Amino acid sequence: MSVFDIGRGTKRQNLIPVQGFEASLPVTVVRGTEDGPNVLITAGIHNQEYVGIETANRLAQELEPSSIRGCVAIVHVCNPTGFFSFAPDVVPEDGKNLNRVFPGRNDGSVSEQLAHNLMNYYFNEASCFIDLHSGGYCEELIPHVYFQAMGDRYLENASKRMAQLVDADYMVRAKEYTGSSFSFAAKLGIPGVLLERGGMAAWSENDVLTYLSDVRRILHRLNVISRSEPQRKVPETIERVDYYSADSDGCWYPASAVGSLIKKGMPLGSIRDFFGRELMCPKAAADCVVLYQAGSLAIRRGDFLAACGDI
Ligand SMILES: [Zn+2]
Repeated sequence: MSVFDIGRGTKRQNLIPVQGFEASLPVTVVRGTEDGPNVLITAGIHNQEYVGIETANRLAQELEPSSIRGCVAIVHVCNPTGFFSFAPDVVPEDGKNLNRVFPGRNDGSVSEQLAHNLMNYYFNEASCFIDLHSGGYCEELIPHVYFQAMGDRYLENASKRMAQLVDADYMVRAKEYTGSSFSFAAKLGIPGVLLERGGMAAWSENDVLTYLSDVRRILHRLNVISRSEPQRKVPETIERVDYYSADSDGCWYPASAVGSLIKKGMPLGSIRDFFGRELMCPKAAADCVVLYQAGSLAIRRGDFLAACGDI
């Protein structure tokens, strides 16, 4: 069984139940009358990544059987109980990050069962994958995209060709399996990209329209839609990302805005106590650009602070 099992010239929009899970997944599947690839598009694997979710909603409204070749399946929100819970980045039933438990387990916790269902029903028969993310609660970011470099040359080149169509300054060559759907898709040999646009659990019409253009350019390259759109810039490749986390509770003061270029050894920010005494001052491990960082004043020990791409 696969979500792509629908007849030619058909569009379906349903809430699809998941075994062992209280909520249903909002899903749109559109198959054109001509042959083409099976494209899987997911959003809302993280609850508050609204730009990606709203982009999925809009795309689902505009795609019709008469306007596409092949089949496009859109899972608008992969974690629907999370979406309505306002809990940041986790499935509320078990407190796990859904994007760290792929491929999941049939007899596992709720997150693991959800991942297992996504893998078996949605990724089954997909020929390429587009995962729409944004900066969630307390996460500022600049638009960027990841392409898969975990498999063979074919997989990497096919993924990179998709990433190059995103209107962003940077694309990251992702080399590691993380338990994400994106990295597990690579393991299955499905070329894919993971996009990031918008942040701080906010969304704007402008960000959604730009995100829609990114996806339409990729669908055009995949020969799914005829219409293409202009691109302002082609992203530059980043080979390595360094992640920084807090070693104490306190107040977080980033040294610079996301997108800033930082020299090796320069401070990324400062954690201070309520009286202004510095507790931690993480320094850049290499010349880098700040791709995303914590945007909250409050920081706990172990929390994410910043992700910097080496340049
Ligand atoms: Zn995310």
